[in-house]
Amino acid sequence: MGLCPFHSEKTPSFNVSPENGFFHCFGCGAGGDVITFIRRIENLDYIDAVKLLASRAGLEVPTDTASNGMGELRKRIYEANREAARFYHKMLYSYEGAKGLSYLRGRSLSEATIKHFGLGYSPPSRYALVDYLRSKGFKDSELVSANLAFMSRSGHAIDRFADRVMFPIIDVRGNVIAFGGRIMSDEKPKYLNTSDTPVFKKSSNLFALNFAKNVGEGMLILCEGYMDVIALHQAGFQNAVATLGTAITTEQAMIIKRYADEIAICYDADEAGQKATTRAIGILRPTGIKIRVVTVPSGKDPDEFIRSYGEQGTARFRKLLDVSGNDIRYQIEKLRKKHDTQIPEQRVTFLTECAKLLAKLDNSIELDVYAGELAEELAVTKNSIISQIEKYKKQSYRKARKEEMRNIMLTTSAAADRINPEKHRNLRAASAEEAIIALLINNPDLADTILSRIDPDKFITSFNRRIFTLLIDRINDSRPISLMDISGELSNEEIGSVASILNARPRENNPKQAANDYINILLDENDKMTPEKAVSASAEEIMEHMKKLKERKK
Ligand SMILES: [Zn+2]
Repeated sequence: MGLCPFHSEKTPSFNVSPENGFFHCFGCGAGGDVITFIRRIENLDYIDAVKLLASRAGLEVPTDTASNGMGELRKRIYEANREAARFYHKMLYSYEGAKGLSYLRGRSLSEATIKHFGLGYSPPSRYALVDYLRSKGFKDSELVSANLAFMSRSGHAIDRFADRVMFPIIDVRGNVIAFGGRIMSDEKPKYLNTSDTPVFKKSSNLFALNFAKNVGEGMLILCEGYMDVIALHQAGFQNAVATLGTAITTEQAMIIKRYADEIAICYDADEAGQKATTRAIGILRPTGIKIRVVTVPSGKDPDEFIRSYGEQGTARFRKLLDVSGNDIRYQIEKLRKKHDTQIPEQRVTFLTECAKLLAKLDNSIELDVYAGELAEELAVTKNSIISQIEKYKKQSYRKARKEEMRNIMLTTSAAADRINPEKHRNLRAASAEEAIIALLINNPDLADTILSRIDPDKFITSFNRRIFTLLIDRINDSRPISLMDISGELSNEEIGSVASILNARPRENNPKQAANDYINILLDENDKMTPEKAVSASAEEIMEHMKKLKERKK
């Protein structure tokens, strides 16, 4: 058991079963074999996950079998993105692109920096990229899937980005996965980003992580915008990253935790930036990462700050980083600004708010230090502060436990089962079906016994029927049926469901007897099915039924 890498939690609900070769999380429902794990944590498709594992084990994946529909499209999108990045970069040095180049130079970016980040320019003509990529053999549909173009009402592909400075977004494996485009006038939106595509999910990628991950300082700097990140990298802080035009998500927080022990939040000094800082602390803290908050003086953003000091920029920013306090100090300071501690009533509310804040700390030494400082400053006893903190700690612990339990109930309750939505209407049948599936996977030699008594038609819920059919087909082809063997044919969520089925059922002492018992239950449930209920098995069948009724009326 351990803490789940796919959602934030304090009490472990993630378990790995080495002998059965799978993982499962009660909290969020994630589960599957080792390939599924790599698919989820590295955000890869099945083939790429297999390749990654194979290369780690020193094995080779035969290339001819390594293709499927989605994998093929993803490959084309990566290629189209790479060509697009080349095109935009070349355009920056064209006659049209001069204004883009002068914008970047005006922000003090060196030639080397522009090249390093592969910055570019999208021409104002709405067909520039589309024409170019067509000449490279790309189909309009592929460009639309890549979100490099969209379809006009008259059915023509049109460039998504026009007259913008272009920032390619590159994943940790070096693939161009998306673009951010900044307009140079006051038009809105200032930034346009690639929408989610088969190779890109905005909420689970970070700008410049491809560079920052190699710095190895154990710390990442989190900025608000592309320009802040680029300015910091140019100034020697290559561990700077940014979210992609949105507030930080839990997924991004989990990624940051994988690459660093500490995060320095360095948002704009304006009010919006400060609000975003508080929100980011709330998202990052549950991951257990160390947090500091860098305050850029005189209302500047990091890019402006560094530029304003010219040659001295690096040293000045280093200093800001060195004096930055952790998130707790930052939040205490914010509370202090809101209260006049000379007035007794306000002193009380200030201390109460601080106690609430400190109750979130797990480290009791840290807690003791802050309580001591506050006690001395405001002339109260440290014990009174600490006992107040303990009170809040108990409350919030109970609340957190309740919340986690609620999530577990939600993900494990049949009513909320998105993968098998028919389950809650057929609980007894579904649980017999699941038991039969688990028995078959754990004891493939029972296949003959099971098949001699039951066939897939007897499965009432369609998800379980599909899994059972898949297992039977493989057995008939003499192919193995462990979770790892079948995971390539299922989505991450579906494998999660099968893993949870296996997880809920320990291996039986007498599997043959158990199989017969569960088959009896399922056959019994079949007998109970009325014809009407049988019709309700699928929407198409209902439609068909309705059509026949109507025709009869005529
Ligand atoms: Zn989880």
